[in-house]
Amino acid sequence: MITLKSPREIESMARAGRIVGETLQLMRRTVRPGLTTEDLDAAAEEFIRSHPGAVPSFKGLYGFPKTLCISIDEEIVHGIPSRKRVLREGSIVSVDCGVHLDGLHADAATTIPVGAVSAEADRLMRVTAESLAAGVGAARVGNHIGDIGHAVQTVAEGAGFGVVRELVGHGIGTRFHEEPQVPNYGSPKRGPQLRPGMTIAIEPMITQGSPLTKTLKDKWTVVTVDGKLSAHFEHTVAITDDGPRVLTAVGETAG
Ligand code: MG
Ligand code: MG
Repeated sequence: MITLKSPREIESMARAGRIVGETLQLMRRTVRPGLTTEDLDAAAEEFIRSHPGAVPSFKGLYGFPKTLCISIDEEIVHGIPSRKRVLREGSIVSVDCGVHLDGLHADAATTIPVGAVSAEADRLMRVTAESLAAGVGAARVGNHIGDIGHAVQTVAEGAGFGVVRELVGHGIGTRFHEEPQVPNYGSPKRGPQLRPGMTIAIEPMITQGSPLTKTLKDKWTVVTVDGKLSAHFEHTVAITDDGPRVLTAVGETAG
C-alpha cells in the first residue's frame, strides 16, 4: 500500500531531510585521504544527534550497526564504516544517510571524491548526479514510477554507464522502506501513478562497467561483479501539485 502524507507530515520530513542534507555537506567538507570510514561515521552521528529528537535511521535497521553506509570505489551500497577502512587519494566514496525525526524518516546519498580523482571517476559522479536530477524532474503528478526510472536510465546509459537493477529506490515515511519500489530503469507510463502526498527516495546506483552486483561475506557490502567503480546519489522527494519537492537538498547541492 502506498501511503500519502499530509502537508504537515511533509514539513516534518523536510526537517529530517535538512539534517540529512547538512550531514552530507559535512561529509563533503570532511572527506580527505588518511581518514577512516569510522571517523566519518562518528562525525555524522554526533552531528545528527546534536539536533533534539533526531536519530540515525540506519542504526539497527535490519541489524545494520552504524549511522552511515559508506561504500568506496567498486562498492555500490551498504558498506559498513570501519576503523580499518582508510580513505585513499583518488578513490570515490559513496555516503548514504538517513535521519528519523518526529516519527518520520528522510534518506539521501552522495558520492564524494577523495582528493584528486581520474577524469572517468569524475564523469561517473557527474552523470550519476545528472541522472538523479532527471529522475527528480520526472516525479510529477500524473506521471508514473516508470517515468522516473526511464529518465534516470536514459541519462546514465546514454553516457555509456550501467544501471544497477538489483537495488532500487523506495517509498519513505513513518517506515524507512515503504511502497512503491522506485527502479532506476523502466518505461514511461508504467507502474503506479504519482499522486500528491507520495514521498519517495530516488537513488540511482550507476556503474562504470557491468551493472551486475554481488554481496561480500560481511553480508552487507554490495559491490560491482567486475570491480569497476560505482556512484550513488539519492534524494527524498515529495510529489506535490506544484511539482517535485526535494526534501533533502541543502543550498544548491544536487546530492
Ligand atoms: Mg539512502
Ligand atoms: Mg534509500
